[in-house]
Amino acid sequence: MVDFRLSERDKLVLARTRAESEICRTYARFYDENEGDFPPDELPEAEEFYANAAPIPAEGLGDSGAPVMGALTQAGQNWGDYSVRMRRTSTAGLGNAALAAAGTPEQNEKWQKLILSMAITEPGCGSDPSRVQTTAELDGDEWVINGEKIFVTTGIRAKGVVIWATLDRSAGRAGIKSFLVEKETPGFEVPHKEKKLGIRADDTAVYVFKDCRIPRGNLLGGNEEIPKGGGSGGFRGVMKTFNMTRPMTAAFGLGIAEAALDFTREHLNEADIEVDYGAMPSSETGAATKFKQLEALYEASMLTTLRACWLAGAALPNNMESSVCKAHAGSAVRRITQGCIEILGPIGISRDHLIEKWMRDCRITDIYEGTGEIQRLIIARGLLDYTRADLN
Ligand SMILES: Cc1cc2nc3c(=O)[nH]c(=O)nc-3n(C[C@H](O)[C@H](O)[C@H](O)COP(=O)(O)OP(=O)(O)OC[C@H]3O[C@@H](n4cnc5c(N)ncnc54)[C@H](O)[C@@H]3O)c2cc1C
Repeated sequence: MVDFRLSERDKLVLARTRAESEICRTYARFYDENEGDFPPDELPEAEEFYANAAPIPAEGLGDSGAPVMGALTQAGQNWGDYSVRMRRTSTAGLGNAALAAAGTPEQNEKWQKLILSMAITEPGCGSDPSRVQTTAELDGDEWVINGEKIFVTTGIRAKGVVIWATLDRSAGRAGIKSFLVEKETPGFEVPHKEKKLGIRADDTAVYVFKDCRIPRGNLLGGNEEIPKGGGSGGFRGVMKTFNMTRPMTAAFGLGIAEAALDFTREHLNEADIEVDYGAMPSSETGAATKFKQLEALYEASMLTTLRACWLAGAALPNNMESSVCKAHAGSAVRRITQGCIEILGPIGISRDHLIEKWMRDCRITDIYEGTGEIQRLIIARGLLDYTRADLN
């Protein structure tokens, strides 16, 4: 039975997350306006808070399970500030999830402690990874990588990257494999950080590979002979990563949307506009009606996200549900933040407040990890039992 009730321990963890999030928020505007700077890994106020906070019992994860709590924690962290909290996440990058999905036990043992980014996107290849132009050629006992990757999240801080490269451009998806390249490998360059609309202080980088040689064993999934179109480290293995990362991406955006709703609710209260959940639209202000519609959007998105996570926690397939929650959240967070700005009027667009920033920050929810359009294609294929060839 699906059950999202939280244990006392879960509630304690989320309360601490909220407290840290409030601290991160105090740094938000500065790093938004100083895009070239990175927020510090350690915030003195947060360290002090944790030093004095009551310990969390080791046992007692609720029935909700780890993925559900993961999503709630991600949302709670992003309620404060996306970029500042990304800096404080000491462990995983997206590449760690890819390594866990496609690496051998030995490869996991070797690299899982490194922060790993994941680089698929190239100047001419985003939604359709079969167009990957970065090449990997076997030369003796080494792979030689050549190509360029853009918009790599955690790209500067990461100590290595899971990179998608093709063994044979004419083979499309079948030729694509994933490789682990450690930073400092000769021929692996990080020319600059990307400049962005939102999540501006976040670490998003460009990578260039020029005759970058890596050991043969860095092909994810193992080092057996690789037939063209077969073998390991391939497309399907790494695609599984998205079934977990898409719900987390939805949760990131929902944390930002919740911040916008909370801010707007406070301002409605200050203006003596009552949000009465029993009232008919004809007996309340338009602002209150609109606000409730935005809250309903948030609730629907959060429920689809938790469901995708719950399925993952129960080891049940969640491919479709991951796309449903990502597609829904990607659109909902835009409508929520823009709707809040409309309700608030001048306060909404003033840079004296963070809400205009939240509108910019949450735009990414519908872009990375597959755009909304791509999620809707996946959902349609699932519902209609179509193949990629039938619907693309
Ligand atoms: C801040 C940020 C961080 C990112 N982090 C990473 C990262 O860590 N690693 C990484 O590899 N990439 C990353 N990306 C890249 C991101 O995944 C891509 O931007 C995304 O996949 C879309 O690719 P594209 O930009 O090339 O757009 P395109 O694929 O060129 O698409 C352009 C538009 O066409 C639509 N479209 C494309 N194909 C179809 C279709 N078949 N049907 C209908 N509509 C379609 C898309 O939805 C989109 O609206 C990041 C991007 C940003 C902005």
